[in-house]
Amino acid sequence: MSTSTTKAVRTRFAPSPTGFLHLGGARTALFSWAFARHHQGTFVLRIEDTDVERSSEAAVQGILEGMQWLGMHPDEGPFYQMQRLDRYKAVIQELLAQGHAYLCYSTPDEVEAMREKARSLGLKPRYDGTWRPEAGKTLPAIPANRSPVVRFKSPQTGATSWDDLVKGRISFDNSELDDLVIARPDGTPTYNFCVVVDDWDMNITHVIRGDDHVNNTPRQIVILEALGATLPQYGHVPMILGPDGEKLSKRHGAVNLMEYDAEGYLPEAMINYLARLGWSHGNDEIFSREQLVEWFDTRSLNKSPSQWDPKKLNWVNAHYIKACPDERLAELVAPRIVKLGGKPEAVNLELVMALLKDRAETLQQLAQGALLFCAPFAPASQELQDEVLTDEARDLLRAFARAASSLPRWDRDSLDALIKEILSEHNVKMPKLGIPLRVAVTGQKQTPAVDAVLAILGRDAVIGRLAGL
Ligand code: GLU
Repeated sequence: MSTSTTKAVRTRFAPSPTGFLHLGGARTALFSWAFARHHQGTFVLRIEDTDVERSSEAAVQGILEGMQWLGMHPDEGPFYQMQRLDRYKAVIQELLAQGHAYLCYSTPDEVEAMREKARSLGLKPRYDGTWRPEAGKTLPAIPANRSPVVRFKSPQTGATSWDDLVKGRISFDNSELDDLVIARPDGTPTYNFCVVVDDWDMNITHVIRGDDHVNNTPRQIVILEALGATLPQYGHVPMILGPDGEKLSKRHGAVNLMEYDAEGYLPEAMINYLARLGWSHGNDEIFSREQLVEWFDTRSLNKSPSQWDPKKLNWVNAHYIKACPDERLAELVAPRIVKLGGKPEAVNLELVMALLKDRAETLQQLAQGALLFCAPFAPASQELQDEVLTDEARDLLRAFARAASSLPRWDRDSLDALIKEILSEHNVKMPKLGIPLRVAVTGQKQTPAVDAVLAILGRDAVIGRLAGL
C-alpha cells in the first residue's frame, strides 16, 4: 500500500474456533497484527463462530491464549459473530428491499438437479436462476409450506477483480459466480455473508488471510459493492508446507501453536520464525518484534508457499535463549524443573542458566540439564564406576577432596585453579581427573565444564559425594 494512504488502517484476524490455533492461523494473525502496528492502525479480533456444531468455547480460549502468548493483543474485540445475528438479518432485509437479493424456494433436491443438468451440458454446475427476478419475467407460484433461502443477485456479466497485496491482479468472470445463498431457510446467515457485513461494519481496510479464501473474495466483493461499502484491500498469503512439500499437517510434527510453548520455545523466537516464514526483510533472519513492526510491508510477503523447517526454528530459539537474561530464563525454567521432579529452589538457578544456555535449543532442554543440580543425586551405575573410578582415579579424587575442603573461596575460578594444581602435582592430563570427578560427583560422564558444575553444586555436596568413595 502507498504511504500516502490517509485512511486509518484497520486489520482483523478472524479465526473459526473449531480447533486449536494452528501455526498457519498464528502466522496470518501475526501479519495482520504487524501491518496494523506498522501503520499505527487498529487490529481487530473477530471470532467466526457461526458453525455452531464445530465451534467450541475451548477453541476460543485456545485462540486467545495463543495470541496472548505471542503478545498479539487486539485493539478491538473479540467480537463474536453469534452475537451479531440480528445485524446480519437486518442487512439481509435491506438487500431484499433494494432488490439485491431475492427469495428462492427451490429445494435442495431441485438445486442439485439443476447442477446435474448443467454438468450434463458440460457447463459449470450452478443454480439456474428460477427464482431470480428479472424485468418482464414471471416467477413461479410460491409453493405452500416451504421456507425460502435468500440468494444474492450476483452480477452475471463483466468481471470482479482486485489488486491482491500479495498475488497481484486477480480476476474472476462474474458468469462464474453463482447467486450465493446468504440466508438459510431458518433465516440464519451464511458464512461469506457474515464476513462481508463484519468487514464492512468494522471498517476493515486490509484483509490479510490465507489463500484458501481467494475463491471467497469475489463473492464477498460483489456483496460489498451492492451494499455501497468501500472495499478493503485483500492480501492472500500462501500456505505453509511441511519439509516434504506437502501441506503442513500433524504428521510433520506439532501444528498447534501452544505445543511450542509446552516444548519450550520462546514467544519472541516463535514470532521471529513465523514472520520469516513467508515474509522477508533483506537477508535478516533474526529480528525483534519491534523491528518486525517497523519493517513490515505486504510487498515483501512471499508469493509462493513457504516450508516449515524445524531445524531452523531450533536455531532461532537457541539464539533467543542465549540472548535471554539468566533471571528470566530461571523464572521460565523453574516450573518445568518442578514438573520433571526437581527442586529449583535447591540451587542458584540463574548460575545454572548461565552455564547451560549456550547449548540449549529449548527451555525444556534447559530444565532437563538443570536436573543435574536440583534433582536428588543418583550415583553412577556400578558398571560406570568400575570403568572410571580406578584406584589411580580414586587417589586423585581423594587429593582433590582434601584440598577442596579447605579452599578459601568456592567459586569457578578457584576450582579451576585447584584442578590445575592437582593435575600438575600428579603430572596427569585433564581427563584423568575430570571424568572421575564428573562420575563421582554427578553420576554422569558428560556434563558442562566441571569447574562450573562443582561451583554450582556447592562445597558440601561435592565433598559429601567424594567422601563416600
Ligand atoms: N474464519 C476464517 C478461517 O478461520 C477466516 C476468514 C477470513 O479471514 O476472512 O479460515
